[in-house]
Amino acid sequence: MIDDLSNIAHNPLPARIDFYPGDLRDPVFLKQTFDAVSPAGVLHFAGAVVVPESLERPLTYYSRNSYATLRLLGEMRRRSIDKLVFSSTAAVYGIPATGVVSETSPLLPINPYGQSKLFSEKIILDVQAASSSHHRPLRTAILRYFNVAGADQSLRTGQQGKSTTHLVKRIVQTLTGQQPHLHVFGTNLTTPDGSCVRDYIHVRDLVDLHVRAYRRLEVDPAPLLFNCGYGQGASVLSMVACAEQVSRRSLPTVASPPRKGDPVRLVADNSRLRHLFPDWTPVPNPLQTIIASALAWEEQLLARQMSPRPAPPPAPASDA
Ligand code: UDP
Repeated sequence: MIDDLSNIAHNPLPARIDFYPGDLRDPVFLKQTFDAVSPAGVLHFAGAVVVPESLERPLTYYSRNSYATLRLLGEMRRRSIDKLVFSSTAAVYGIPATGVVSETSPLLPINPYGQSKLFSEKIILDVQAASSSHHRPLRTAILRYFNVAGADQSLRTGQQGKSTTHLVKRIVQTLTGQQPHLHVFGTNLTTPDGSCVRDYIHVRDLVDLHVRAYRRLEVDPAPLLFNCGYGQGASVLSMVACAEQVSRRSLPTVASPPRKGDPVRLVADNSRLRHLFPDWTPVPNPLQTIIASALAWEEQLLARQMSPRPAPPPAPASDA
C-alpha cells in the first residue's frame, strides 16, 4: 500500500500491511516501490476528494488526481502491469437534469475535483486503447463512486481527513460534541423535504465492488466502468433523522444557504453494476449502518486522541 500520509490523522495502519509512504508523482519513489513490490495489478484510490477545497486549490487537485494517475500509469506500463482499478466519482456528471445518472449520462463536471477525475478517466482509457497491440494490454475498471460513507464495522479503518466537509463526518462530529450544530446546506430546494438528495453507499459495499472488479479483470479483459451507488436517494434531513434515531441523541441543525455548485439531487442508476454482479448484496439497513459505524469510529478516534501517548522505549545503554 502506498499513501502520502497527507490525510491520515491519528490511526496507525494494521501491522500486516506492507506500507510505502510516498507520493505517486515522485518517479524515484514510484520506481523503488514497484521494484520492491512487483505488483500484478493496482487499485488506485489515492486522491484529493473535497469539492469546496478543489474550488480553492484547483492546481492541487489536477496535480494530485490527474497528474499522479498519469505517473502511475507510466510506471505500470513500463513494467507491463496489466490490471488497474480506479476510483472515480459521480462528480464527473456535474449537475444532471433529472438527478439520476447512468454511465452514459453527459459528463459535465462543475468543479476541479470532478474535472480532475474525468481527466484521469480519459488518460486511463487512452492508455488502454493504445495498449491493445501490446504484449499485455491494459485491463481497466473505473468505479464512479457516489457518496461513500461509514466505517469498517470492526473499526480497523474509517474516515480520518483533517479538513473533511462530508455530511456523515460532520453529522458524527456534531453528535460527539466537536461542533455545536450541523449546517444543512439548502432547505428550500425542489426535493420532498427541501434538502439535497444523495446516494450514500457504505464503504464495505464499495470495497466489495473493488474486489469483484479486480477478480473480473483477472479473467476477462473487457473494460469495466460503472456507477457505485444503491440507486436510492436520501436527503440531508433524512440523514439527520436517521442519525438521531441510531444514536438516540439530538442533532442540532442550522438552516444554511445551499453550497456553491451542489447538485440538488444526485442518485445512481446502478443497473450496470447489478447486471455485472447480480449477487452483490449491500449491508442490511445501509443508512443506519453507515451512521452507526461512522459514529463508533469517530468515538474511537476521540478516545485515542485523549489517551496518553505510550512512553518512549528506554534509551539503549551507553557504550562509553
Ligand atoms: N451537507 C450539509 N451539511 C454539511 C455537509 C454536507 O448539508 O455539513 C450536504 C451537502 O450540501 C450535500 C450533501 O450534504 O448536499 C452531501 O455532501 P458531501 O460533502 O458529503 O458530499 P458531496 O455530495 O458534496 O460530494
